[in-house]
Amino acid sequence: MAGELLVIGEIQSGGGLARVSAEVATIARRIGERAGRPVEGIVIGADPGRAASELVGYLPFSHAVSEPEAADHAAAAAVAPGLAALIAQRGLSHVLVGASPDGRDLAGMLSALLGWGVLVNAIDVGWEGGGPTVEMSVFGGRLLTSSTFAGEHGIVTVRPNAVVAEPLAEAGRVVETVLPAAAALPAVNVVQRVAEAGAAAPIEEARIIVAGGRGVAGPVGFGIVQELADELKGAVGATRAAVDAGWIPYAHQIGQTGKIVKPALYLALGISGAIQHKVGMQTAETIVAVNRDADAPIGEYADLFVVGDLFAVAPAIVAELRARRG
Ligand SMILES: Cc1cc2nc3c(=O)[nH]c(=O)nc-3n(C[C@H](O)[C@H](O)[C@H](O)COP(=O)(O)OP(=O)(O)OC[C@H]3O[C@@H](n4cnc5c(N)ncnc54)[C@H](O)[C@@H]3O)c2cc1C
Repeated sequence: MAGELLVIGEIQSGGGLARVSAEVATIARRIGERAGRPVEGIVIGADPGRAASELVGYLPFSHAVSEPEAADHAAAAAVAPGLAALIAQRGLSHVLVGASPDGRDLAGMLSALLGWGVLVNAIDVGWEGGGPTVEMSVFGGRLLTSSTFAGEHGIVTVRPNAVVAEPLAEAGRVVETVLPAAAALPAVNVVQRVAEAGAAAPIEEARIIVAGGRGVAGPVGFGIVQELADELKGAVGATRAAVDAGWIPYAHQIGQTGKIVKPALYLALGISGAIQHKVGMQTAETIVAVNRDADAPIGEYADLFVVGDLFAVAPAIVAELRARRG
């Protein structure tokens, strides 16, 4: 059917659906209802079954495309030509995909193959006057822009944690599909897959994050950040200042050039709250900051601002939590 919206579901290591894809599906369903257009999903990979069956938890219908090439090569180059052919064949109007490394690669390749525009890093997507309206945060969060496509087609990449994924009451159905034959792009060989340092604490998925900044004063200081995070069963985050100083790996960095997080609780220790940090954590449900400077910018947007020395406050919280647990 012409004019449908397509959600590209991404497979995470282990075979399940990437969380960002469930979020993208939730947004697409919402705008599909508004536009009166059907929404379908697609999962392409060496073994797409599990992720596709998870994607139909959020969409009424998804293709599952088995593409063995995706196992040994960078997925985008292996699947983009066939996917572009399928999109053209089915007369789809817009594509939504997560702004992950693979999602961004694929969006760029589809844009070149289809001649469609791309709007990147959306924090929200609506629908007005026959097309999507795409909200983007630019200049390190200083400006919010709202853009539309000039024509009737377009590709949108959506930031992780833009919305909370909402499952359907009843799961949809998966259909096994074969992509149409298309001229291949030069394959990009995957030489090695390396687990990200610090991946044991996936901060993008954490409900509670305890983050440390320059005020933590060194790798030893991060001990108290870790201790408090362990006590709260949360993950450890950091500012760029702490990462650049080599106190903690980049995998923990939150902000414009780090990760975007949306936890229920964000506890900031010794963090000034610069705009480049704020854009990565401002959508946390509750922000608690501990800073010895009463004028630190984070005080302007924290829900609870504790003016004090983190080396006194954080151990006191740990002690209180332990005392309550008995
Ligand atoms: C292009 C660009 C991209 C950037 N991307 C990012 C990014 O992704 N993420 C990011 O975080 N930053 C980013 N930055 C850097 C950003 O501008 C700030 O420099 C950085 O966030 C500051 O980190 P901080 O809050 O740890 O350090 P500071 O700004 O130095 O703040 C430290 C705070 O700790 C407090 N403090 C000190 N000792 C104690 C104590 N004992 N107890 C309590 N409080 C104490 C101080 O009062 C101060 O407020 C970027 C900058 C640029 C230009």
